[in-house]
Amino acid sequence: MSDTIAMPDGMPDKSGDMADFSHASRDELLARLELALQENVALEKHIKELSQDNNDLHLVIETTVQHADAISNQLHKQNLELERARLEAERANELKTSFLSSVTHELRTPLTSMMGFAKLIQRDLERNIRPHIPPDQKKAQAVLARVLEDISVVRLEGQRLMGLVNDVLDIAKIEAGAVTWDMNTLDLRHVVKQAVQRSLGLFEDRQLKMELPETPAMVTGDDDRLLQVLVNLIANAEKFSEQGDVICRIYQKSEPTGNPWVCCEVEDFGIGIAPEQQEAIFDKFHQARVSASDYTAKPAGTGLGLAICREIIDYHRGRLELRSALGEGSCFSFCLPALDS
Ligand code: ADP
Repeated sequence: MSDTIAMPDGMPDKSGDMADFSHASRDELLARLELALQENVALEKHIKELSQDNNDLHLVIETTVQHADAISNQLHKQNLELERARLEAERANELKTSFLSSVTHELRTPLTSMMGFAKLIQRDLERNIRPHIPPDQKKAQAVLARVLEDISVVRLEGQRLMGLVNDVLDIAKIEAGAVTWDMNTLDLRHVVKQAVQRSLGLFEDRQLKMELPETPAMVTGDDDRLLQVLVNLIANAEKFSEQGDVICRIYQKSEPTGNPWVCCEVEDFGIGIAPEQQEAIFDKFHQARVSASDYTAKPAGTGLGLAICREIIDYHRGRLELRSALGEGSCFSFCLPALDS
Protein backbone atom coordinates (compact mmCIF):
# COMPACT_ATOMS: atom_id res chain seq x y z
CA MET A 1 0.00 0.00 0.00
CA SER A 2 1.34 3.33 -0.99
CA ASP A 3 1.63 6.01 1.79
CA THR A 4 1.01 8.80 -0.71
CA ILE A 5 -2.53 10.01 -1.17
CA ALA A 6 -3.68 10.66 -4.65
CA MET A 7 -6.14 13.50 -5.27
CA PRO A 8 -9.57 12.15 -6.09
CA ASP A 9 -10.49 12.26 -9.75
CA GLY A 10 -12.03 15.55 -10.88
CA MET A 11 -10.37 17.60 -8.09
CA PRO A 12 -8.16 20.30 -9.55
CA ASP A 13 -4.50 19.82 -8.92
CA LYS A 14 -3.79 23.13 -7.28
CA SER A 15 -0.42 24.66 -7.62
CA GLY A 16 1.06 28.09 -7.17
CA ASP A 17 -0.51 29.87 -4.21
CA MET A 18 -2.52 26.84 -3.08
CA ALA A 19 -0.72 24.03 -1.18
CA ASP A 20 -0.18 20.94 -3.26
CA PHE A 21 -1.15 17.89 -1.16
CA SER A 22 -1.34 15.46 -4.03
CA HIS A 23 1.99 13.87 -3.26
CA ALA A 24 2.16 14.48 0.49
CA SER A 25 2.70 11.52 2.76
CA ARG A 26 0.14 10.75 5.47
CA ASP A 27 2.54 11.82 8.26
CA GLU A 28 3.21 15.03 6.47
CA LEU A 29 -0.47 15.65 6.18
CA LEU A 30 -1.00 14.90 9.86
CA ALA A 31 1.81 17.24 10.81
CA ARG A 32 0.32 19.95 8.70
CA LEU A 33 -3.10 19.31 10.17
CA GLU A 34 -1.62 19.52 13.66
CA LEU A 35 0.02 22.82 12.71
CA ALA A 36 -3.19 24.14 11.24
CA LEU A 37 -5.04 23.17 14.42
CA GLN A 38 -2.47 24.93 16.57
CA GLU A 39 -2.70 28.01 14.34
CA ASN A 40 -6.45 27.83 14.65
CA VAL A 41 -6.24 27.71 18.45
CA ALA A 42 -3.83 30.67 18.42
CA LEU A 43 -6.16 32.50 16.05
CA GLU A 44 -9.14 31.85 18.31
CA LYS A 45 -7.13 33.10 21.28
CA HIS A 46 -6.19 36.19 19.33
CA ILE A 47 -9.80 36.74 18.31
CA LYS A 48 -10.85 36.41 21.96
CA GLU A 49 -8.21 38.96 22.98
CA LEU A 50 -9.31 41.27 20.21
CA SER A 51 -12.90 40.94 21.29
CA GLN A 52 -11.82 41.67 24.88
CA ASP A 53 -9.90 44.72 23.60
CA ASN A 54 -12.95 45.68 21.65
CA ASN A 55 -15.07 45.47 24.81
CA ASP A 56 -12.52 47.55 26.68
CA LEU A 57 -12.53 50.05 23.82
CA HIS A 58 -16.31 50.21 23.96
CA LEU A 59 -16.13 50.84 27.66
CA VAL A 60 -13.58 53.61 27.16
CA ILE A 61 -15.71 55.15 24.39
CA GLU A 62 -18.82 54.96 26.55
CA THR A 63 -17.05 56.59 29.52
CA THR A 64 -15.62 59.26 27.23
CA VAL A 65 -19.04 59.94 25.76
CA GLN A 66 -20.47 60.19 29.29
CA HIS A 67 -17.68 62.62 30.24
CA ALA A 68 -18.26 64.64 27.09
CA ASP A 69 -21.98 64.76 27.91
CA ALA A 70 -21.22 65.91 31.45
CA ILE A 71 -18.82 68.58 30.15
CA SER A 72 -21.32 69.70 27.55
CA ASN A 73 -24.03 69.98 30.24
CA GLN A 74 -21.62 71.89 32.43
CA LEU A 75 -20.75 74.21 29.52
CA HIS A 76 -24.40 74.73 28.76
CA LYS A 77 -25.05 75.66 32.41
CA GLN A 78 -22.04 77.99 32.43
CA ASN A 79 -23.22 79.59 29.19
CA LEU A 80 -26.62 80.22 30.74
CA GLU A 81 -24.95 81.72 33.81
CA LEU A 82 -22.69 83.88 31.64
CA GLU A 83 -25.65 85.08 29.62
CA ARG A 84 -27.50 85.90 32.86
CA ALA A 85 -24.40 87.74 34.19
CA ARG A 86 -24.07 89.62 30.89
CA LEU A 87 -27.69 90.72 31.04
CA GLU A 88 -27.27 91.75 34.68
CA ALA A 89 -24.09 93.71 33.80
CA GLU A 90 -25.91 95.38 30.91
CA ARG A 91 -28.78 96.31 33.20
CA ALA A 92 -26.34 97.58 35.87
CA ASN A 93 -24.61 99.63 33.17
CA GLU A 94 -27.89 101.13 32.05
CA LEU A 95 -28.78 101.93 35.65
CA LYS A 96 -25.33 103.46 36.19
CA THR A 97 -25.70 105.64 33.11
CA SER A 98 -29.18 106.83 33.97
CA PHE A 99 -28.11 107.39 37.60
CA LEU A 100 -25.08 109.36 36.43
CA SER A 101 -27.18 111.40 34.00
CA SER A 102 -29.64 112.44 36.68
CA VAL A 103 -26.93 113.05 39.30
CA THR A 104 -24.98 115.07 36.73
CA HIS A 105 -28.03 117.14 35.99
CA GLU A 106 -28.69 117.66 39.72
CA LEU A 107 -25.06 118.73 40.21
CA ARG A 108 -24.77 120.87 37.14
CA THR A 109 -27.80 123.04 37.80
CA PRO A 110 -26.81 124.37 41.27
CA LEU A 111 -23.16 124.51 40.25
CA THR A 112 -23.95 126.72 37.26
CA SER A 113 -25.95 129.00 39.50
CA MET A 114 -23.17 129.15 42.17
CA MET A 115 -20.59 130.01 39.53
CA GLY A 116 -22.85 132.64 38.05
CA PHE A 117 -23.34 134.26 41.48
CA ALA A 118 -19.61 134.13 42.25
CA LYS A 119 -18.98 135.98 39.00
CA LEU A 120 -21.67 138.57 39.87
CA ILE A 121 -20.24 139.12 43.37
CA GLN A 122 -16.76 139.57 41.90
CA ARG A 123 -18.06 142.08 39.36
CA ASP A 124 -20.09 143.96 41.98
CA LEU A 125 -17.11 144.22 44.30
CA GLU A 126 -14.90 145.44 41.45
CA ARG A 127 -17.40 147.92 40.04
CA ASN A 128 -19.42 149.10 43.02
CA ILE A 129 -17.28 148.60 46.12
CA ARG A 130 -13.67 149.07 45.11
CA PRO A 131 -14.13 152.66 43.79
CA HIS A 132 -15.66 153.65 47.16
CA ILE A 133 -12.77 152.50 49.33
CA PRO A 134 -10.39 155.41 49.77
CA PRO A 135 -6.75 154.60 48.98
CA ASP A 136 -5.69 155.34 52.56
CA GLN A 137 -8.03 152.64 53.95
CA LYS A 138 -5.28 150.06 53.66
CA LYS A 139 -7.03 147.43 55.72
CA ALA A 140 -10.27 147.62 53.74
CA GLN A 141 -8.27 147.51 50.46
CA ALA A 142 -6.42 144.41 51.67
CA VAL A 143 -9.65 142.69 52.76
CA LEU A 144 -11.26 143.45 49.40
CA ALA A 145 -8.23 142.09 47.52
CA ARG A 146 -8.35 138.91 49.61
CA VAL A 147 -12.09 138.44 49.08
CA LEU A 148 -11.67 138.91 45.32
CA GLU A 149 -8.88 136.36 45.30
CA ASP A 150 -11.00 133.91 47.29
CA ILE A 151 -13.85 134.32 44.85
CA SER A 152 -11.43 133.58 41.99
CA VAL A 153 -10.55 130.33 43.72
CA VAL A 154 -14.27 129.52 44.11
CA ARG A 155 -14.76 130.12 40.39
CA LEU A 156 -11.73 128.07 39.37
CA GLU A 157 -12.76 125.19 41.61
CA GLY A 158 -16.31 125.48 40.28
CA GLN A 159 -14.97 125.19 36.73
CA ARG A 160 -12.93 122.19 37.77
CA LEU A 161 -15.95 120.54 39.38
CA MET A 162 -18.04 121.22 36.30
CA GLY A 163 -15.30 119.72 34.14
CA LEU A 164 -15.17 116.67 36.40
CA VAL A 165 -18.95 116.20 36.32
CA ASN A 166 -19.00 116.46 32.52
CA ASP A 167 -16.01 114.17 32.07
CA VAL A 168 -17.35 111.52 34.46
CA LEU A 169 -20.65 111.49 32.62
CA ASP A 170 -18.89 111.39 29.27
CA ILE A 171 -16.67 108.44 30.07
CA ALA A 172 -19.49 106.55 31.78
CA LYS A 173 -21.63 107.00 28.69
CA ILE A 174 -18.87 105.94 26.30
CA GLU A 175 -18.02 102.88 28.40
CA ALA A 176 -21.68 101.92 28.71
CA GLY A 177 -22.04 102.19 24.91
CA ALA A 178 -24.70 104.85 25.51
CA VAL A 179 -23.19 107.45 23.18
CA THR A 180 -24.89 108.04 19.87
CA TRP A 181 -22.11 108.43 17.33
CA ASP A 182 -22.75 110.56 14.28
CA MET A 183 -20.30 109.05 11.80
CA ASN A 184 -19.88 110.88 8.50
CA THR A 185 -17.38 111.40 5.74
CA LEU A 186 -15.46 114.53 6.69
CA ASP A 187 -12.39 116.58 5.92
CA LEU A 188 -10.23 116.53 9.04
CA ARG A 189 -8.79 119.94 8.07
CA HIS A 190 -12.16 121.53 8.92
CA VAL A 191 -12.17 119.92 12.37
CA VAL A 192 -8.63 121.16 13.06
CA LYS A 193 -9.57 124.70 11.95
CA GLN A 194 -12.61 124.65 14.27
CA ALA A 195 -10.56 123.34 17.20
CA VAL A 196 -7.91 126.01 16.68
CA GLN A 197 -10.54 128.72 16.37
CA ARG A 198 -12.13 127.60 19.62
CA SER A 199 -8.82 127.44 21.50
CA LEU A 200 -7.29 130.72 20.37
CA GLY A 201 -8.57 132.45 23.52
CA LEU A 202 -6.19 130.35 25.63
CA PHE A 203 -3.15 131.74 23.84
CA GLU A 204 -2.25 135.25 24.78
CA ASP A 205 1.41 135.86 24.12
CA ARG A 206 2.30 132.88 21.97
CA GLN A 207 0.94 131.18 18.92
CA LEU A 208 -1.28 128.27 18.15
CA LYS A 209 -0.19 127.27 14.65
CA MET A 210 -1.75 125.05 12.01
CA GLU A 211 0.10 123.01 9.40
CA LEU A 212 -2.46 121.60 7.02
CA PRO A 213 -2.14 119.88 3.63
CA GLU A 214 -3.55 121.61 0.57
CA THR A 215 -5.62 118.60 -0.45
CA PRO A 216 -8.60 117.34 1.60
CA ALA A 217 -7.86 114.90 4.43
CA MET A 218 -10.92 112.68 4.20
CA VAL A 219 -11.85 110.25 6.96
CA THR A 220 -14.99 108.70 8.47
CA GLY A 221 -15.74 110.19 11.85
CA ASP A 222 -17.96 112.00 14.30
CA ASP A 223 -16.84 115.62 13.89
CA ASP A 224 -18.11 116.75 17.31
CA ARG A 225 -16.19 113.99 19.05
CA LEU A 226 -13.02 114.54 17.01
CA LEU A 227 -13.32 118.24 17.80
CA GLN A 228 -13.58 117.32 21.50
CA VAL A 229 -10.33 115.31 21.21
CA LEU A 230 -8.45 118.14 19.50
CA VAL A 231 -9.73 120.84 21.86
CA ASN A 232 -8.64 118.68 24.77
CA LEU A 233 -5.17 118.01 23.32
CA ILE A 234 -4.67 121.71 22.53
CA ALA A 235 -5.83 122.71 26.05
CA ASN A 236 -3.35 120.24 27.56
CA ALA A 237 -0.57 121.48 25.27
CA GLU A 238 -1.25 125.03 26.45
CA LYS A 239 -1.61 124.03 30.10
CA PHE A 240 1.61 122.05 30.26
CA SER A 241 3.87 124.46 28.37
CA GLU A 242 4.75 127.96 29.41
CA GLN A 243 6.54 129.02 26.28
CA GLY A 244 6.93 128.00 22.67
CA ASP A 245 4.21 127.68 20.10
CA VAL A 246 1.73 124.88 19.95
CA ILE A 247 1.42 123.28 16.53
CA CYS A 248 -1.54 121.40 15.20
CA ARG A 249 -0.75 119.51 12.00
CA ILE A 250 -2.21 116.97 9.61
CA TYR A 251 -0.16 114.60 7.48
CA GLN A 252 -0.67 111.43 5.45
CA LYS A 253 1.05 108.14 6.23
CA SER A 254 1.16 104.78 4.43
CA GLU A 255 1.68 101.40 6.03
CA PRO A 256 4.05 98.86 4.47
CA THR A 257 0.85 96.99 3.48
CA GLY A 258 -0.13 100.08 1.52
CA ASN A 259 -3.05 101.20 3.72
CA PRO A 260 -3.15 105.01 3.78
CA TRP A 261 -3.80 106.91 7.02
CA VAL A 262 -4.65 110.50 7.82
CA CYS A 263 -2.82 111.57 10.97
CA CYS A 264 -3.28 114.56 13.17
CA GLU A 265 -0.94 115.72 15.92
CA VAL A 266 -0.69 118.44 18.54
CA GLU A 267 2.87 119.33 19.49
CA ASP A 268 4.10 121.50 22.33
CA PHE A 269 7.50 122.43 23.73
CA GLY A 270 6.52 122.30 27.38
CA ILE A 271 7.36 120.24 30.44
CA GLY A 272 7.15 116.86 28.67
CA ILE A 273 6.25 113.53 30.25
CA ALA A 274 8.65 111.03 31.84
CA PRO A 275 8.87 107.68 29.97
CA GLU A 276 7.44 105.71 32.93
CA GLN A 277 4.33 107.95 32.92
CA GLN A 278 3.68 107.86 29.21
CA GLU A 279 1.22 104.96 29.28
CA ALA A 280 -0.35 105.66 32.67
CA ILE A 281 -1.52 109.17 31.74
CA PHE A 282 -4.13 107.55 29.49
CA ASP A 283 -5.65 105.85 32.55
CA LYS A 284 -8.66 107.42 34.18
CA PHE A 285 -7.82 110.02 36.85
CA HIS A 286 -4.06 109.66 36.32
CA GLN A 287 -2.13 112.90 36.42
CA ALA A 288 1.61 112.86 35.90
CA ARG A 289 2.25 116.34 37.26
CA VAL A 290 3.63 116.23 40.78
CA SER A 291 3.71 119.90 41.55
CA ALA A 292 0.97 122.24 40.47
CA SER A 293 2.90 125.30 41.61
CA ASP A 294 3.59 126.53 38.07
CA TYR A 295 -0.02 126.33 37.06
CA THR A 296 -1.96 127.72 40.00
CA ALA A 297 -3.67 130.28 37.80
CA LYS A 298 -5.30 127.57 35.71
CA PRO A 299 -8.01 125.14 36.75
CA ALA A 300 -6.46 121.79 37.57
CA GLY A 301 -7.70 119.01 35.32
CA THR A 302 -9.62 115.92 36.20
CA GLY A 303 -7.26 113.31 34.76
CA LEU A 304 -10.09 112.05 32.56
CA GLY A 305 -9.41 114.02 29.36
CA LEU A 306 -6.92 111.64 27.76
CA ALA A 307 -8.92 108.55 28.78
CA ILE A 308 -11.94 110.05 26.98
CA CYS A 309 -9.81 111.02 23.95
CA ARG A 310 -8.44 107.49 23.69
CA GLU A 311 -11.94 105.96 23.87
CA ILE A 312 -13.10 108.29 21.09
CA ILE A 313 -10.14 107.52 18.84
CA ASP A 314 -10.46 103.77 19.56
CA TYR A 315 -14.08 103.98 18.43
CA HIS A 316 -12.83 105.47 15.15
CA ARG A 317 -10.49 102.46 14.78
CA GLY A 318 -7.49 104.70 15.28
CA ARG A 319 -4.93 104.92 18.04
CA LEU A 320 -4.01 107.90 20.21
CA GLU A 321 -0.27 107.93 20.75
CA LEU A 322 2.38 110.02 22.44
CA ARG A 323 5.99 111.00 21.82
CA SER A 324 7.50 112.99 24.61
CA ALA A 325 10.76 113.85 26.33
CA LEU A 326 10.89 115.33 29.80
CA GLY A 327 11.69 119.04 29.65
CA GLU A 328 11.48 119.13 25.84
CA GLY A 329 7.79 118.79 25.04
CA SER A 330 5.09 116.39 23.97
CA CYS A 331 3.39 115.40 20.76
CA PHE A 332 0.03 113.60 20.90
CA SER A 333 -1.09 112.07 17.61
CA PHE A 334 -3.83 109.92 16.17
CA CYS A 335 -4.21 108.29 12.77
CA LEU A 336 -7.47 107.32 11.09
CA PRO A 337 -7.98 105.22 7.95
CA ALA A 338 -7.85 107.59 4.97
CA LEU A 339 -10.70 107.78 2.46
CA ASP A 340 -10.25 108.72 -1.20
CA SER A 341 -10.64 112.46 -1.57
P1 ADP B 1 -5.97 116.54 32.99
O1 ADP B 1 -5.32 117.38 31.94
O2 ADP B 1 -7.37 116.91 33.23
O3 ADP B 1 -5.15 116.34 34.21
P2 ADP B 1 -5.68 114.46 31.08
O4 ADP B 1 -6.20 113.06 31.06
O5 ADP B 1 -6.00 115.33 29.93
O6 ADP B 1 -6.15 115.07 32.43
O7 ADP B 1 -4.12 114.37 31.25
C1 ADP B 1 -3.57 113.50 32.21
C2 ADP B 1 -2.19 113.94 32.59
O8 ADP B 1 -1.29 113.80 31.48
C3 ADP B 1 -2.08 115.40 32.96
O9 ADP B 1 -2.46 115.63 34.29
C4 ADP B 1 -0.60 115.65 32.74
O10 ADP B 1 0.13 115.14 33.84
C5 ADP B 1 -0.29 114.78 31.53
N1 ADP B 1 -0.33 115.55 30.28
C6 ADP B 1 -1.34 115.59 29.39
N2 ADP B 1 -1.00 116.35 28.33
C7 ADP B 1 0.23 116.82 28.56
C8 ADP B 1 1.15 117.66 27.83
N3 ADP B 1 0.84 118.18 26.65
N4 ADP B 1 2.35 117.90 28.40
C9 ADP B 1 2.69 117.37 29.58
N5 ADP B 1 1.89 116.57 30.32
C10 ADP B 1 0.67 116.31 29.81
